Amino acid sequence: MHINDAVFLEDLCPKFRLRQWRKSIHRFTGKSCIYCGKPSESIDHVLPRSQGGLSTTENCVPACLSCNGDKSDKNALYWYRRQKFYDPRRAMAIRAWLDGDLRLAIRLLQWANPNFKERNRNYKEEESNYKAA
Ligand SMILES: [Zn+2]
Repeated sequence: MHINDAVFLEDLCPKFRLRQWRKSIHRFTGKSCIYCGKPSESIDHVLPRSQGGLSTTENCVPACLSCNGDKSDKNALYWYRRQKFYDPRRAMAIRAWLDGDLRLAIRLLQWANPNFKERNRNYKEEESNYKAA
């Protein structure tokens, strides 16, 4: 009975589910742009929706408005390679993210950004909470 209620609630509130999902995406990177490391203000479709990209976690990365707007409908990795802030570790992280290996992506981002660890502490706590549950 409770399970049916939950399904019903989700159907009733797709916006709520979408918001939770968006939040979780930003949390993975400690709310920083996967491309340049600035605060992430938006979600970027790596493969643009206009090219059939889906709104799945594997295809959606946290990005600042500047990167998101500049990249536009270009191929993400091709575009990223031409940026001044290009970092091969971030490029690997993006690739891992696209493969659905978020754990590896996050580790690579931590490596690329020394400040990341501090901001990402909550993620680790959450992870251990999951294990405890
Ligand atoms: Zn950016």
